[in-house]
Formats: sequence, C-alpha cells, structure tokens
Amino acid sequence: MNMRSYGKLGKRLIYSSIFSAVILILFIIVATIWIRQSLNENIQGQRVLDSIDEAYNFLYESLIDQETGQRGYNLTGEEAFLEPYYKGEEIFKESAETLLQKTANLSPLDTEIKKVIDIGTYWQEHYGGILVDLTRNGVQPDKGLMEEAKQALDEFRQVSTDFSIHIEQQRSVVREKMKTRIKFILASLVLTSSFIICINLLFNIRVLKSIIRPIIQLDDCVTYYAKHEFTRPIPVYKGNDELAALISNIDRMRAELAVSIDLLETKAHHDELTGLFNRRYFNSTLEKEWTLAKRASTSVSLILFDIDHYKNFNDTYGHLAGDDCLKVISKMLDSYNVDRLSIAARYGGEEFAILLVSQEEQEVQHLAEEVRKAVMDLKIPHHSSATNQFVTVSVGAATIRPAGDQVSEELIESADRALYHSKQAGRNCVTYYRESL
Ligand code: GH3
Ligand code: MG
Ligand code: MG
Repeated sequence: MNMRSYGKLGKRLIYSSIFSAVILILFIIVATIWIRQSLNENIQGQRVLDSIDEAYNFLYESLIDQETGQRGYNLTGEEAFLEPYYKGEEIFKESAETLLQKTANLSPLDTEIKKVIDIGTYWQEHYGGILVDLTRNGVQPDKGLMEEAKQALDEFRQVSTDFSIHIEQQRSVVREKMKTRIKFILASLVLTSSFIICINLLFNIRVLKSIIRPIIQLDDCVTYYAKHEFTRPIPVYKGNDELAALISNIDRMRAELAVSIDLLETKAHHDELTGLFNRRYFNSTLEKEWTLAKRASTSVSLILFDIDHYKNFNDTYGHLAGDDCLKVISKMLDSYNVDRLSIAARYGGEEFAILLVSQEEQEVQHLAEEVRKAVMDLKIPHHSSATNQFVTVSVGAATIRPAGDQVSEELIESADRALYHSKQAGRNCVTYYRESL
C-alpha cells in the first residue's frame, strides 16, 4: 500500500483506524487467553475433585469391606472373612492420608473429610477391631455391642453422604467461578470494543468535520470566483495538509485570475488607440441604463461628436497625426468619465459619444456646448478645414425618458439626426434633437 497516495488527511484517518484495530485485536487476544485460562482452571479444579471423589470412594468402600469382613467373621468364625477386613483397614489408612493431603486447601471439604475419617477411625478403634478380637478369642460378641457398631457405621454412612453432597457443591462452585469470570471477560470485551469503536468514530468524524466545512465554503467561494466576484475571502483553514495546500493554491489562482480578468475586461472595454471606452462597452452600458431608466422612469441622454473635415486633416497632416489628434481629444473627453452617470466613449472612426443618465435637457445642452468649446480650445491646427483654423466638432444631442417597448436605438438615431443637422448647419455647433428635425 503506497501511503503517499493517501496524503496527510487520508493517513490521519487510516492511522486512527489502524490504531483502533490494533488495540481491539490486542484486547481480543488477552481476552481469549484469559478465557482459556479460566477453562483450564475449571478443568483442573474438576480433576482435583475427581481424584478426591475417587479416593473418597476407596475410603468408603474400604470401611464397608471391613464391616462386611468383621460381621462375616463374627457370624462364621471363618478366617477368610479377615482378608477383606485387613485389606479394608489398609486401604482406609492410605485413602485417608491421600484425602487429607488433597483437601488440605479446599475448605470446607477439609473439615468434612476429617469428620468422615474420624467417624470411620472411631468405628475401627471402638467396634471393628474389638469385635474381631472377641471372635478370635472365642468369645461371642455382645448383641448390644453389635448394635452400637451398626449405629456407628450408619453414622459413617450419613457423613459420607454429606461429603458426597459437598463434593458436588464444590464442583458447582468451581464451575460458577469459571462462568462468572468468562461473563466478566466477555462484558469487558464488549464494553472496551464499543469504547474503542466510539472513540475511533468520534476522531474520524472530527477529522471529516474539520475538512468538510472548509470544503463547502471553498465550493461557495469558487462559485463566486467563477462569476468573477473576487472580493469573497477564501475560507480560513489552520491545517497543514492537502486541503490547506488546495485552499492556498485556489487563493493564489483567485488573485491571478482577478488581475487577468481585470486586464481582459479593461482590454475588452477600451479602445486600443485612444484608451477611451469602446463602442462595445458603450452599447452594453446603454442597454443596461436604458433598462434601469425604464424601471425608474428616469432619462437617458446621448451626446454624439464628429470631428469636422477629419478626412482633410488626415490628408493634410498624415494618418499618424490624425491618430494623435484623436488621442488628444480622447484625453480631454476622458475627464467626463466620472461615474456610471456619465460615460465617454469612442463611438466610431472620428466620432465620440457621452452617455448621460438622469440629466435634464438644459444640463445636457450645456455639457454638449462645453465639450464643443473644449475641443476648439485644444487648438489643434487644421488648415484644411473649411470651418475653423483649429480642429472642431459638430455635436448632436438627445434625451429620452424610455417607456413601454421603446428601444435604445431610438436615442442613437435621434442624436445622430441632431448631429447631421449640426453638419448641415455649418459644423462646429450643437443641435439638440427636436421632433421637427
Ligand atoms: P465631416 O466633416 O462631414 O465629418 O467630414 P469628414 O472628413 O470628417 O468625414 P468622412 O467620413 O468623410 O471621413 C472620416 C475619416 O476618418 C475617414 C477615415 O480615413 C478617417 N479615420 C477613421 N478612423 C481613423 C483612425 O483611427 N485614424 C485616422 N488617422 N483616421 C481615421
Ligand atoms: Mg464621421
Ligand atoms: Mg467627420
């Protein structure tokens, strides 16, 4: 697995998952070993109890064998009965020792088995041996003594039965201990696993949350940048990972794009020769203002200027001088580019336009006259002009308060007609559009 391809963010998530998985696996291994140990302890405990049970059976059987041998010997006097008696005595002794050893640390079995052994020994010492000796000496045992011996043996049987019950109880204790321990281990396993999974989940959610929010904000910003709205600030992200790099790259792209778009827009909106707004920009602005004026019931005015005898100027001074003349006039006109209420543009070859919003007729007329004079005041020599020794302009102006389905071409036509009238009227003058024209 090539971890580099996951980046810092991916690695954070992968490492947290690996960490949780390792902890979980370790815990499962520990729990398994613990369960196995509990099972072994149970098996061992049961085995010890099995061996105690076995020794106890020998002990019990050995005393019963002794009693059978003793009674047979008492009744028949046959020596053959003494064999199980003495054999039983031997086994009883051995089994008693074994049992005392094995139950040494197993309370309450240790006290219970002592009781069984004591009562068995009591029978052996006070009845079994005495009754055998009596028969061996040719004395018929007393019935009362026989009866007492029987009662002592019954008591032995009783405590033996109690001991058997205690062994079974002890088995249950060992089994329950194992069950409780396994239940505890399983519960701890479930709790710990849930805890680890929750912690892992919380960590991953935190990581995702820390990146999702900036991604959404970034997406929002990019949408704005696509609409060339570059003022929206890039989201703040404090990490040191791929997202931080992406945000910083997008921010750099935003800044570069803003400059490029600005440059492009400037180029697209301006005339290359004069630097004034061009016809395209003029037309789109006129459309916008026309629509706004319709809505606000305000007026839109247009002042068109055309240089007089400009062809002659070119012919006299040359095309380059003609260009310079256009530049000088444009520079003066550019001072009328104050705000969106007044836009000066190069309309065509040697024609210029000033678009005015919300201006009264007198103000428009006044401005047209002002510009006409200003051109003359530039004092650009024009010897081949039939109008003046300096370059002059003829001006046509019109104002319309657009309504209904009126189109902006009407304004251009009106100003153009007024301009034509100025040309007809001898040039270097202003004509304000009237219907009579
Ligand atoms: P009028 O007084 O009737 O307006 O006469 P005019 O000579 O000014 O008008 P006309 O339309 O006959 O000639 C305009 C000239 O302007 C023709 C063209 O070569 C010149 N012209 C157009 N654009 C440019 C330009 O960018 N630079 C130069 N030097 N001349 C241009
Ligand atoms: Mg012209
Ligand atoms: Mg002209």
